[in-house]
Amino acid sequence: MKFTELNLSETILTAVEKAGFVEPSPIQELTIPLALEGKDVIGQAQTGTGKTAAFGLPTLNKINTNHNYVQALVIAPTRELAVQSQEELFRFGRDKGVKVRSVYGGSSIEKQIKALRSGAHIVVGTPGRLLDLIKRKALKLENVETLILDEADEMLNMGFLEDIEAIISRVPESRQTLLFSATMPDPIKRIGVNFMKEPEHVKIAAKELTTDLVDQYYIRVKENEKFDTMTRLMDVDQPELSIVFGRTKRRVDELTRGLKLRGFRAEGIHGDLDQGKRLRVLRDFKNDNLDILVATDVAARGLDISGVTHVYNYDIPQDPESYVHRIGRTGRAGKHGQSITFVSPNEMGYLAIIENLTKKRMKGMKPATAEEAFQAKKKVALKKIERDFADESIRSNFDKFKGDAVKLAQEFTPEELALYILTLTVQDPDTLPEVEIAREKPLPFKPSGSGFGGKGGRGRNDRNRGGRDNDRRRGGYRGDRNRDRDDRDGGRRDFKRKSNKNRKDFENKDNKRPHRTSSEKKNGFVIRNKGER
Ligand code: ADP
Ligand code: MG
Repeated sequence: MKFTELNLSETILTAVEKAGFVEPSPIQELTIPLALEGKDVIGQAQTGTGKTAAFGLPTLNKINTNHNYVQALVIAPTRELAVQSQEELFRFGRDKGVKVRSVYGGSSIEKQIKALRSGAHIVVGTPGRLLDLIKRKALKLENVETLILDEADEMLNMGFLEDIEAIISRVPESRQTLLFSATMPDPIKRIGVNFMKEPEHVKIAAKELTTDLVDQYYIRVKENEKFDTMTRLMDVDQPELSIVFGRTKRRVDELTRGLKLRGFRAEGIHGDLDQGKRLRVLRDFKNDNLDILVATDVAARGLDISGVTHVYNYDIPQDPESYVHRIGRTGRAGKHGQSITFVSPNEMGYLAIIENLTKKRMKGMKPATAEEAFQAKKKVALKKIERDFADESIRSNFDKFKGDAVKLAQEFTPEELALYILTLTVQDPDTLPEVEIAREKPLPFKPSGSGFGGKGGRGRNDRNRGGRDNDRRRGGYRGDRNRDRDDRDGGRRDFKRKSNKNRKDFENKDNKRPHRTSSEKKNGFVIRNKGER
């Protein structure tokens, strides 16, 4: 199927082509024709499957730029997602001259009012701010012909149901309503029943909740040893681009600070940061100016970030769906990724509940020792020295220090100088900056049925798991009573192989990240850019 078969207007098609989209994704293929016919549509598909363009293209198609009023309204759960959608809509509507504005809380309402006054055909906004603007009469809805609820399940999770209903009831009844969501919890279905006209429900079956491209590990570790365990692992693994998930905003702040102290290029995002800062961090992460993004679940949901090689679950997520979302940040576009979940001993039951949902088993991994981390860092430093000496642009700077270098060479032996360089380059494991991460209560030992999937709970203890592992794995876990030891053995091997491979990767890639092409950004379906076909 080609976009050209979809009855979109010429200008929109040109923009789609310019964006490098070749084929519509399944959700686009099925919902765009319905939306173009004017039907109400409920579109359900996993994150990253192109839902924005699914509602965006037909909506843009319908806009009449001869009229200078708001003709479409998109309700989005978070500022980031609103901005992301606004950017995508702008990209496809620019040639047609469609004006798209985004509005959200935490940012000057006056400025947004001004922007709206200057003209808007499509407004994308978060529920609270939209209501505010409607009440102030800065946002007029009488000419809205298309209403879109984007990431509806997220909006529900964030407690926006009432706000959304309040907004819907203010949009003229003659409208077309499109609702897009990754999942369809009951309250969202009810919106379909109560506020939509005979909606067509298009559901793209989720392939698998988690992809085989992600190696999923867990490390059993005491709360107060988690941080050191994580940074040692990072030293050994040298992840290219990673996301660390923390349970709370405070956690995110503390982890970010700690990682920076230990020399990692890390920044955090969560709901309390002002808008500008969040966007800056995301931009830096996407542009490879950051290696580690620390985030809460909410802040990271739905974000279109590509190239993530490692996901670290500093805290095991409270609900298994969050786990799926988290590790879905890696293993995209056919590339391998890995996730490491840190679990305190009494949270082990939660692992089983997650595995119950994903139908995949996490492998136990043994923590790296301080010595292993140190050796790994040394190896990196030595490689870097070797590389730098081979680099003309670096050598050409040597001249500036010639006189001083000669003096130093008279004063110290080559070995002393080399030792000095190494102590400067490699953080001493004995004097690593202490990082205090405030204690968070581990999740309760017996997960309560609600929210966390219900099933699971008691019977799925380590003993049972061990037993089942036996059936499925040769050489992995060998006996239930020895789970811990077996973790070590099994994990040990995985760990070795993996870290060696990573080191090799590191050596090969010349310390430069491969450039991420736009086609790699795409996920959930195979996309070829033009020219790559
Ligand atoms: P969702 O809302 O389902 O999570 P998005 O709309 O954010 O997904 O799309 C994910 C990424 O895929 C975006 O970078 C988007 O530009 C890209 N994309 C969407 N549709 C296509 C397509 N048909 N061809 C190529 N890339 C696409
Ligand atoms: Mg989306």
